[in-house]
Amino acid sequence: MPQQVQPIFILPEGTTKTSGRTAQKLNIEAAKLVADQVRTTLGPKGMDKMIVDSLGDITITNDGVTILQEMNIEHPTAKMIVEIAKTQEAEVGDGTTTAVILAGELLKNAEGLLEQNVHPTIVAKGFILAEAKSQEVLNKIAEDCSIKDKALLKNIAITAMTGKSAESHKDYLADLIVTAVTSVAEEHNSKLSVDLTNIKLEKKVGGGIHDTELVQGIVLDKERVHPGMPTQVKNAKIAILDCAIEVKDTETDAKIQITDPRQIQAFIDQEEKMIMDKVNKILASGANVVFCQKGIDDTAQYFLAKNGVYAARRVAKSDLEKLGKATGANIVTSLKELAAKDLGNAGFVEEIKFGDEQMTAVRDCKNPKAVTVLVRGGTEHVVAEIKRTLTDGIGDVRSALMSGKVVAGAGSVEIELAKHLRKYADSLEGKEQLAVIAFANAVEVVPRTLAESAGLDPIDKLAELKSAHDKGQRWAGIDVFTGKVRDAWKANVIEPLKIKTQAIKSASEVATMILRIDDVFAGGRNSGAGMPAPRGGMGGMPGMDMM
Ligand code: ADP
Ligand code: MG
Repeated sequence: MPQQVQPIFILPEGTTKTSGRTAQKLNIEAAKLVADQVRTTLGPKGMDKMIVDSLGDITITNDGVTILQEMNIEHPTAKMIVEIAKTQEAEVGDGTTTAVILAGELLKNAEGLLEQNVHPTIVAKGFILAEAKSQEVLNKIAEDCSIKDKALLKNIAITAMTGKSAESHKDYLADLIVTAVTSVAEEHNSKLSVDLTNIKLEKKVGGGIHDTELVQGIVLDKERVHPGMPTQVKNAKIAILDCAIEVKDTETDAKIQITDPRQIQAFIDQEEKMIMDKVNKILASGANVVFCQKGIDDTAQYFLAKNGVYAARRVAKSDLEKLGKATGANIVTSLKELAAKDLGNAGFVEEIKFGDEQMTAVRDCKNPKAVTVLVRGGTEHVVAEIKRTLTDGIGDVRSALMSGKVVAGAGSVEIELAKHLRKYADSLEGKEQLAVIAFANAVEVVPRTLAESAGLDPIDKLAELKSAHDKGQRWAGIDVFTGKVRDAWKANVIEPLKIKTQAIKSASEVATMILRIDDVFAGGRNSGAGMPAPRGGMGGMPGMDMM
């Protein structure tokens, strides 16, 4: 008699498991859904999204990563796609929509192969081959870009802004972006690097978009500490202090017995003298502006004001560092050490007023290695979106400078890449060839979507584009305004190479990772991982039907 086998439970109660094709199908479905959420925002004819969070706060944006972050997506696979957008934002600053729709399309095309019984590992292998080939091709077809080519850099910034609400001021803002990025660019071992922390973006609601201004220096959210201080200082000599202008409290509690009222006076006098010593140290250095990370005593404020010194206190450490880069000042940690050589210079320091709020602007620094963009616009939503678009443009110009390589957009680079990938597929054997072709087709999602959003027939346009590329017109792309095929390079639609290489890299990595999954175990809270949960398990957007 065979013994009765007790069922064994290795997972906690409530864990659900989906396996094989079901798990794959659901994961792919989730990824496609994420891509669908941002698809219509792509390109100059792309639309914006309005997202209302649980507190009623509104975001109106065209920016892929912002949309996906604000949507609060919960589905685990969908979250992996959102991560692509975040990586793209961190690495380049632009191209987030492109990266996400590419991942969605790769998985969609992979699904077609799975349905024809191609094994997922074969598809994954083909994708990895295609990704490597893509990097090689993209690097080969890219054009050079140098810091001297200001017109080219400006076109990159304009391309980043096309189709966004900043577009109406793109000419002005593009100049601003190029000046900002090139000012802070530094050369290390004959390679240019741009540290984005040196471009401060400060938002202030009010005025219009055209009031957005590049300050060759730093704008601080601080006012002068004393009303007796000047509101403007020309030819500023700036001291940056990491120490307080106060008398230190004694470390131990001590009681002083006073027997004579004169002793109180002596005590106060002594304190005042200590403060005066500190103030005199500042005056002796020749400083007429002081930025202090810590506090400034009332008496010190009074004496600084009396001597015409502009001072701000409790300035953030990060701002002190930027001030140092912009003005050339050394950050001094002890007043005893302060000397003339530590001071920085600025043409102009002033207190600026926005409504009831005051800020300090340190302007006209010579050759500043840190600058500020003061972002303005009529409402909070406008300012926020302009800031996001400036981030895209700054990221693009930075990427172009750092790698020295750019490509033409408007779908041209994708068609050219797909052409090379198909040629490469011919050299392969077996089913991997099919996967490489599926990858090539997926890359074309960019021109296809651009055509769709311009109201053109995507099949016709793609055929037209492909024939132009077959004739050797490497940068033939879509003119979304006239619907014609034209040379995107000549039309000044230029993007940094890195937008494309990064998007392809992360999209293909995530797609292959998702393809390899054949079991999903979901435990704990109702995460809906690969499960046929209501509305596909995508939460966070009440009332929004996604399936
Ligand atoms: P992403 O978040 O991916 O950057 P965008 O909405 O910024 O999305 O759209 C970028 C796409 O729009 C790129 O493929 C780019 O080549 C294309 N594009 C930008 N400007 C133009 C233009 N003037 N004509 C045609 N395509 C353009
Ligand atoms: Mg963009």
